[in-house]
Amino acid sequence: AEEFGIQQALKDLGLNEINNGTSTGTDWFGNGDIIESYSPVDGALVGKVKATTKDDYEKVITTAEKGFKEWRTWPSPKRGEVVRQFNDELRKLKEPLGKLVSYEMGKSYQEGLGEVQEMIDICDFAVGLSRQLHGLTMHSERPGHRMYEQYHPLGVVGVISAFNFPVAVWSWNTALAWVCGDACIWKGSEKTPLTSVACQNIAARIFAENGVPAGISCLITGDYRVGEMMTKDERVPLISATGSIRMGKIVAQAVAARLGKSLLELGGNNAIIVTPDANIKNTVIGAVFGAVGTCGQRCTSTRRLIVHEDIYDKVKDAIVNAYKQIRIGNPLDENNHVGPLIDKDAVKNYQNALKKVVEEGGNILVEGGVLEGEGYESGCYVKPAIAEAKNEFEIVQQETFAPVLYLLKYSGDVGKAVEIQNGVKQGLSSAIMTNNLREAERFLSVEGSDCGIANVNIGTSGAEIGGAFGGEKETGGGRESGSDAWKVYMRRQTNTINFTTELPLAQGIKFDL
Ligand code: NAD
Repeated sequence: AEEFGIQQALKDLGLNEINNGTSTGTDWFGNGDIIESYSPVDGALVGKVKATTKDDYEKVITTAEKGFKEWRTWPSPKRGEVVRQFNDELRKLKEPLGKLVSYEMGKSYQEGLGEVQEMIDICDFAVGLSRQLHGLTMHSERPGHRMYEQYHPLGVVGVISAFNFPVAVWSWNTALAWVCGDACIWKGSEKTPLTSVACQNIAARIFAENGVPAGISCLITGDYRVGEMMTKDERVPLISATGSIRMGKIVAQAVAARLGKSLLELGGNNAIIVTPDANIKNTVIGAVFGAVGTCGQRCTSTRRLIVHEDIYDKVKDAIVNAYKQIRIGNPLDENNHVGPLIDKDAVKNYQNALKKVVEEGGNILVEGGVLEGEGYESGCYVKPAIAEAKNEFEIVQQETFAPVLYLLKYSGDVGKAVEIQNGVKQGLSSAIMTNNLREAERFLSVEGSDCGIANVNIGTSGAEIGGAFGGEKETGGGRESGSDAWKVYMRRQTNTINFTTELPLAQGIKFDL
């Protein structure tokens, strides 16, 4: 790792040998067990972080509640100004933070930088938003009355995030929640604790410089047990949770049991439909990047390719050919396309999926396997694989978080392809490759894709921050990032004001005293 300057990056980000608190000392407490973070890139120890105990959590939540009471009174453009300064710091630290993301999580350095760029973009968006937190006015049915709605800050927002986007998802939530006037407590993934500390360090420093009350950016560290402290806590009105469907079902129930709000961003099972009118070259680029980028560990990764029978063989040959060019290796080396999976458990899941698809009658087109030898010592590097399969296979119905692509054939019109595409429990991202306007519009119509994201002539993978991001069905229904996603971080209030000397009742009701 040293040739890529990891030690310097850790230093630039203010990380210590053992990390258990920030400079302000009030917005993150960790006195629990030591969490060791090992890099999937080379298997080496990245650093250590102390976990949050129950007592630590009590201090954090009390500080956050207290801080919120002051923060909510700041004018939102002033809060936006703090986010602007935080963003300036992100721009300065883009390279070390991108490098740490790449090293601790295993995605390519380009993608690590891309993730930090997403943080920068959402902060820009949030700064503008800080002057646009608007409601509507409507005409009252009563004379001499005015009616309008306004949005107030919600309170303490809990953010639970997954390993695969260890920094962007935090900022998608917090940049908006902060300008909305909320305090945030973040439980990052236990698989990427150092990136969490690095982000928290940046926020804590900028917030302290601006006299932001303690507790507006908080970090708690540890596994699901630390997450549960928040999900069961009625002092946290909103939990935004990103991760597996399994986790989402548990979190949703815990939050619903106390009638809290949850914003869920869960797993996907994303497909690209390839019709006879598709541009094959673009299809191959979109599908290969979608399937192998981030080693298949994006919630929007392409898992299924639904190809019309007339062009099936052509597409198959082109994709198989493209897979031969893929270079697998150290993600910090920009010559490589694909880095490692996050850990050995992920490798096992990948191997099981390949075994299972054969057992169910699938046909392997591009052989998988775990790489060994020099450069692959971490044991987490695998070969992207392709299998011909059927949509109803149990394994195809699941999200395997690894570079395994299923090739499915359809015949008939685009309606048949949409049926296959929608025939899974998840509903995150979807795409169609076609130059046929009728097919594209049918795919986007009410009878088309049932996903939160539906693209035409681009793949399933990734999304711009300007749109609302999220998915339907078991993906959880949440929306975050752009558009009007900010509304979930606020409470809406309807106000009616009587400016007459009378008190007329609604619906003409008489109540004479
Ligand atoms: P995971 O579900 O194992 O963990 C996600 C987070 O939830 C971690 O911080 C974990 O500690 C926490 N957690 C787990 N159980 C919990 C519980 N009972 N209570 C509270 N917190 C709990 O997921 P992962 O392996 O880190 O990430 C991969 C998954 O995330 C994939 O399924 C992927 O599709 C999904 N994901 C979805 C999106 C999206 O926006 N839809 C984005 C990124 C990742």
